[in-house]
Amino acid sequence: MSHTESGHIVPPTFISPVRHPWAARAKGLVGSIIDSSTSLLQRQTHDIVSFAMGSPAAEAVPSDAFREIYDSVLADAGAAAFAYGASEGEVTLRGELLAYLATTPERTSAERLLITSGGMQGLDLAAKLFVDPGDLVIVEAPTYTNGSATLLAYGADILEAPIDDQGLLVEALPDLVHQAGRTPKAIYVIPNFQNPTGTAMSLERRHLLLDLARKWGTIIIDDDPYGMLRFGGDHIPGFRELGGGDPLVFSVRTFSKILAPGLRVGWVDADPAIVAKLIDAKQTMDTCTNVPNQLLAAEFLRRGDLEPHLRRLRSEYQRRMMAMQTSLERHFSEQAAWTNPQGGFFLWLTFGEHVDTSKLFDLGVPNGVAFIPGRAFSVTGRFGNALRLCFASQTPERTELGISRLADTLRSL
Ligand code: PMP
Repeated sequence: MSHTESGHIVPPTFISPVRHPWAARAKGLVGSIIDSSTSLLQRQTHDIVSFAMGSPAAEAVPSDAFREIYDSVLADAGAAAFAYGASEGEVTLRGELLAYLATTPERTSAERLLITSGGMQGLDLAAKLFVDPGDLVIVEAPTYTNGSATLLAYGADILEAPIDDQGLLVEALPDLVHQAGRTPKAIYVIPNFQNPTGTAMSLERRHLLLDLARKWGTIIIDDDPYGMLRFGGDHIPGFRELGGGDPLVFSVRTFSKILAPGLRVGWVDADPAIVAKLIDAKQTMDTCTNVPNQLLAAEFLRRGDLEPHLRRLRSEYQRRMMAMQTSLERHFSEQAAWTNPQGGFFLWLTFGEHVDTSKLFDLGVPNGVAFIPGRAFSVTGRFGNALRLCFASQTPERTELGISRLADTLRSL
């Protein structure tokens, strides 16, 4: 294990008792504090304003339209809707998605597209194809817990690189890599409205990261569930756009944040040779993505409903983000600093060094407020004085109630 200025390179640690005949790779499985918080919160019987999960607002999920679409697509497809589907994805969804993407900067082609079971499967496939045990992988610090957990599950040595309000500090990477003594196999980035901070990577840094990846032969795992949810500022071209089909860019996308996470439908856009291999890999994981839900997504797209839906989401999430800023100003202007996202779901709050947000969480839940403590977003347990708030899932009124409960909880810490 080597050390760097920004922290340690973290190899996966053995966390399981030895009574079972574990495979070596089981040592890397660390689970997700974020996902575990869902079950913890579901067990509570009192009122909790939860800013914890990165879930779309309940009001933002078009469940009535979904029900009607299910009725019609299931009637049309009959038993075929319940048969095994094609591993690369249903023909209808692939066609509709390609047509939709052609109207956006993410235009792509059939041989570059794989339909996945959500974004998580895209991340898992990326790690499965490109990460051997002991490979160095750079992640943003802080980063999305499930992303780093996936990399650890495949035995990656994780190097946390700093970020600022312009995203990953790409200019720091050559020194970090020099200190690590080896080039990274992959760099995992969330370029737009990053989970957990809500910041977006600047165009200049995107260019620089592509240059470095080309120099090192490093895969960029470009995880972008929030790019279509920009409500302020100008579009910044993504790696898919800037790379012009560069085989080093592996783009993971999902319907989870723009339609509904329970559908478990997403996609990967990657080099055709990679996609061919991905199909082999997916066949040993789940054969195909849930067929009825693919038909639902396809019909939603076919009706032209996605674009107006996105327009509604953007304006509603902007309203909710601004409401959260107002509540934070009211209750925390002295005690904390926070980010000002131009899209997505999350905002990152940082307190003085003495505040331990894991303790704040333990007190907050009985007090009726939940969030994700900052430590969850670092494999080295950093950011103990920060926390992630999802502004998308609560109405402005509930947000004010939750933030005032958070302020009360902080006073009792
Ligand atoms: N990547 C990021 C950055 C995310 O925030 C999420 C969802 N929280 C995912 C991937 C996983 O998406 P899905 O639910 O589609 O698996």
